[in-house]
Parts: sequence; structure tokens; C-alpha cells
Amino acid sequence: MNARRIAMAEIADTNTPEIEEGGNFIEEFGCDVFGINTMSEYLPKPVFKKLRETMETGKALDSSISDDVAHAMKTWAMERGATHYTHWFMPLTGATAEKHDSFLETCANGNVIARFSGKNLIMGEPDASSFPSGGLRSTAEARGYTAWDPSSPAFIKRANGVATLYIPTAFCSYTGEVLDKKTPLLRSMQVLSAQAKRLLKCFDKDFEGGAKVTLGAEQEYFLIDRRFYVQRPDLMQTGRTLFGAPPQRHQQLEDHYFGAIKPRILAFMADLDRELWRLGIPAKTRHNEVAPAQFEVAPIFEEVNLAVDHNMLIMDALKRIAEKHNFACLLHEKPFAGVNGSGKHNNWSISVGDINLLNPGNDPHQNAIFLTSLCAVIQAVDKHADLLRSAIAGAGNDHRLGANEAPPAIISMYLGEQLADIVEQIEKGQAKTSKHGKTIKIGADILPELPCDATDRNRTSPFAFTGNKFEFRAAGSSQSCASPNIVLNTAVAEAFDEIATALENLPKNADFHAELQKMLSSIIKKHKKIIFNGNNYGDEWKKEAAKRGLPNLRTTPEAIKPLTEAKNIALFEKYGVFNRAEMLSRHEIFLEEYERKIGIEAGLSLKLARTHIIPAVAAYLKELGGALETEKMLGGTKKSKAAAYAAKISARLNSLIEISDNLETQIKKAEKLPKIIETMAELRKVADEVEGEVSNELWTLPKYCEMLFVY
Ligand code: ADP
Ligand code: MG
Repeated sequence: MNARRIAMAEIADTNTPEIEEGGNFIEEFGCDVFGINTMSEYLPKPVFKKLRETMETGKALDSSISDDVAHAMKTWAMERGATHYTHWFMPLTGATAEKHDSFLETCANGNVIARFSGKNLIMGEPDASSFPSGGLRSTAEARGYTAWDPSSPAFIKRANGVATLYIPTAFCSYTGEVLDKKTPLLRSMQVLSAQAKRLLKCFDKDFEGGAKVTLGAEQEYFLIDRRFYVQRPDLMQTGRTLFGAPPQRHQQLEDHYFGAIKPRILAFMADLDRELWRLGIPAKTRHNEVAPAQFEVAPIFEEVNLAVDHNMLIMDALKRIAEKHNFACLLHEKPFAGVNGSGKHNNWSISVGDINLLNPGNDPHQNAIFLTSLCAVIQAVDKHADLLRSAIAGAGNDHRLGANEAPPAIISMYLGEQLADIVEQIEKGQAKTSKHGKTIKIGADILPELPCDATDRNRTSPFAFTGNKFEFRAAGSSQSCASPNIVLNTAVAEAFDEIATALENLPKNADFHAELQKMLSSIIKKHKKIIFNGNNYGDEWKKEAAKRGLPNLRTTPEAIKPLTEAKNIALFEKYGVFNRAEMLSRHEIFLEEYERKIGIEAGLSLKLARTHIIPAVAAYLKELGGALETEKMLGGTKKSKAAAYAAKISARLNSLIEISDNLETQIKKAEKLPKIIETMAELRKVADEVEGEVSNELWTLPKYCEMLFVY
């Protein structure tokens, strides 16, 4: 038996581990977080008060209390078994980064003590030279520093019994350029918050605190048995299968989505939830997704900065807990060709005080605020569709967007029939032409109740209104949510800014609601081309979208181009989220990352073809040769069916060798990437066909029908 077949036998023999009962999970929630309750317990009252203020207002930490805070954190962490701390940050690799330092310090008298100073807490100096900076700084002056973000609490992460104190931080160069994803997110939140407050003031609403941007990120993932995973170098090195024929049965029976969760998966999910709750992550929903072996975890929404950090922790926990259960968790956007890929639904809204700006509410005043916010989002998404697309670009997502089960690369907005009708009424103003023979008068009429149940949703839309929030569905499963939210926040801030300015400039005696109605009507006229309630998967939409002038940026290089365009640089510079150099460096980094990823995939395709697929086909041809010998002995003719079959396999073998050679030449010549991608696809096509012909015993790479179904 080959290793692949041995793995199968072993997995068939695996028993599902018993998980301890849930216990008092409510009490356990957040027990590994240095949150408000813990702080009040461990800090002197005046210090606690100051720290709380810092956390709530986003002001810089008062350096006079940093030593006290650090000491309390260390005491708390050591009581929970931590020996080390780390500044935890999000460099532009898209992953998280950490370097552990122990609390240990030596004294002059030779003794050792545990110490953690305010300075250690507030600032760290990782050697930044190996993180991508896109020309922002040369390696010679590679100093970068990390700075504590008090709006995201410190926590203890446990891995195999090792507890470490994690301090969420922002990462900058010494000259102040941002080198991470958190800093611009924090900036964009502040900008949107300020503009939302200004806008609400026009509605006579004034608030003490700022506006909050909220995010609920639904995370999709695949789980396969680790014993298959380690036999798939492509999964290990690129996150996706570069070869593999779709099984006869995959998702066409539609029996996996929301199906009963298998015990081994449930044990994993229970362990995962437990871990997430300890970290203060409000994991809420777990279920089977559409593709076989595909699942989802969704937390309750939180303020966007925290939610982004938490999503990074969720991805980390998924991988870690999977390993513990002898699974591998695949976060790639398209690990398996021919079945659904994985996305991350980015549920986004803004609230001020207790008002969710995207909640229609049930009185005319709230309705007016809602409709204004809605029109602002319509304007923002239409004006900056290209930037939204750029925020979710990546080699992995290229395989998913535009495939038949995922939103296309064209950004459009779904409002639902009823809301679309209301928007139409507003556009037409007093002209009584709408479906219901009535127009909405902003500030006077009450909106009808909007349905927000699942049946009314358009699953094909990349950007859908879902009752009291917008759901951006084009984000990729492996991506950080920071980028799409940076774009959304900034683009909506610009729209709020424009509307607020216009409202502030109204003459004193103007009819506020009549003027507002005119303003919204003109926004809708200008930007309604982004609204599309139909089927986003169809080819007709591609044509229609082109007619409307909506961008269709299919591949990563096209999709990130907008980062270099003057109008986009101007937007981010205006609101102080990115400067020009930061935008250009990001473009450079993302392009390079894309090219490197394709380079790795191409090299590995070649290697797998030569070391797995070609040898299997050759071995099979040899077996067939033996059979032909026997046939001859028995008096068979050269023209037998078996001889024809062997000739076909031989032709496949030659074609595999020929395409591999071509691929090798193209890689060596550094041929243009689209050409290399095309050759990889050609190679895969032959390999996947021959997988269905070669003896099962000789095939070495675990097959789709095994990885997706055997667990
Ligand atoms: P589904 O989209 O699967 O039907 P829900 O509508 O319940 O599920 O919510 C999906 C996600 O949206 C959850 O993570 C939820 O917490 C989040 N969500 C709900 N309300 C808001 C809001 N106001 N802001 C941001 N996210 C929200
Ligand atoms: Mg959803």
C-alpha cells in the first residue's frame, strides 16, 4: 500500500475524541483577557480611571501610569502561567507577527527577577528589516517600532500549555510611515467617527462619545485530515491544490450546507469555541458550509478594530486547534477547484450612541438619518468601487471571485426590492410614479418595515444591505479584514463630510427636510448605477455592468492598480489615512507578493508533475506493457483494445512531459505571469484527466474524493 492508502486506513480507524462538557462557559468568557474587569481588580483606582479614559477616547496613554499598568499586567499574566510577553502586530504580509521576550531580568547582585516596565509595554523595537516596506525605508535604516493600542486589550494565548502575554500593537517606521494594517484602520475609524458626529449634529443629535464602526466577520474554512495534508506539498506550500480531479459527487446534492455536523468536526468546533470564549471573542454560530468539508464560524459583531484583531485570532485558533484534532485547517480562498471557495463576510455598520445609522428604525426622524446614511454608502461604494476591489485583491481570491459560486470581481450593491423601491421614490422626489403610487417624504413619512430575513437575500451580490448593516462578501477567507474596512470607513467619511457640509451651509430659514430630500435625490441620480438587485453570477450582468461603466478588475495586478491613481491617493491624503508614499509602497508590496506566490505555484506545479504525476503514469504504462506482453503470449494481436488504451496513456505521458518542459522554460525565461498561469492550467488539465485513468494503487497524491469526504 502506498502512503496515501495507509492514511485512508488509519483515518477510518480514528475515534472521535471526547470533549469535556461546556462547563460554565459564561463565567469563563474573557478569562484570558486583561479587560475592564481585570483592570479594575489589578489597578489602583486613579490609574484604572486614567487607563479607561485612554481606551474609550483613543487618546495617548499617560506615561505616568504606564509603569503601574505594566506591572499589573505582568502580575496577572504570571498568575496565569505566562513567562513571556510579545508585542503583536500586523505587518503587510497579511499575517500577524510576534517576538517573545521573557519577563526575566538579572540584577547587579546576580539574582534574577521578573520585571515588565511601562516602557516595555508602550513600545517595542522588533528588527523590522525583514518585513515588507515597499521602499518606505532601506534595510540600512530598518528601525521600526511597535506601539501599544490600548483600544484592543492584552490577552494570554495558550498553545500546548505555553501561556504568553500578547499586547496588540501598531507598527511604524521611525520616520512615522505606517508599516502595518492596524494604524490606517485606527485612522480611518477616527475620520469616520468625526464625520458621523458632524452629520448627526445636522439632525440635532449631539453625543458625548464618538461614533463606532462595527464589524461582524463570518469566517469560512475547510478541514481535512492532517494525514492527507502532509501528503499534499501543494496544500502545505501554497494553501491550495494545484492538481486534483473533482470527485463525481461533490456539492451537487446540496446536502452539506447546514447539514448535521459530524462528531469529529463537532469536537473540533467545541474546542475552538471554548478557546475563542477564553480570549473574549464572542463566537456565536457554527455550521456546515456549501462544499463538502467546508465550515463556518461567526462571532457577534464588535467595534471594528477589535473585531479585526479577533478575526486574526480566530484564523490562528482555527489552525492550532485543527492540528490538535489531527486536522489541517485550510483558509485559502480556493483550496479545491470545482467546489465552492471560502470567503469572509464583512458585516459593517456605524452606530452613534444607541443609534445604528443603518437601522431604518420606526420613526420619521430615525428614518431620515437612515436614508441619509444609506445614500452616503451608495455614493461611497459607487465612487470608490475600484478601491473596494483593490482591498480584497490577492492571488487566492483571483480563483474565487467570478467563479460561479462567488461574487464577481465587479462591485455592485444589493438593496432588496423594497428598499430599492424606496430609493427610487426618493430619486423621483414628488413625482408619483413609484410602484406603490406614493412617494416618501423624508422627515414626515414612516418607512415600511423592511424584511431582514434570510429568504429575501441575494447571495450573489458582493455588497448587500441586510436589514441593519452592509455585508461585503467579496473579502477572501485568508485575508485580514483591515483593508476593506479602511476603504469603507474612509469612503463613507468622505460622503458624510460632503453631505454634512451641504447641510451646514443651508440658509437658516431653509426647509431642512425638503433640502435633504433634494440632496439625496441628486446623490441617487448620480450613483444609482452601482445598485443591482439581479443575479450577479450571470454573463448578462457582466455586459450590463460594462454598459454602466462599472469597473471589472479581474486579476490582482489590475485590481491593485487603483492604489496608484491620483484620485485615490487624494482621498486618503485628504483624510490623513495614507500618504502618497504609503499608497505606492502598498501597491509595490502587494504586486510583489502576488508575483512571488504565482512563482511558487508554478515551480511547485512543475515539481509535482515530475515527481508525482509523471512517475505514476509511467509506472502504470509499465503495468499496461506487462499486460500487453501477457496478451501477446495468449495469442492476442497488436491492435487489441488494451494496446489502444496503452497508447492513449503513453500519449498522456508524453503530453505531461512536454507541457512540463514548456513550463520549465517559461519559468527560467521569467515569462509573463498570465502565460505561466495558462501553462499551469494546461498541465493541470492533462494531469486531472489522467488521474481518472491511472491505477488507484499507483496514484500518490491524496484525491479530492478522499480529502473532502474522509474524516
Ligand atoms: P447571516 O448573515 O448569516 O444571516 P446575521 O445576520 O445574524 O447572520 O449576522 C451575520 C453577522 O453580522 C454576525 O457576525 C453579526 O454579529 C453581524 N452583525 C449584526 N449586526 C451588525 C451590526 N450592526 N454591525 C456589524 N455587524 C453586525
Ligand atoms: Mg452572512
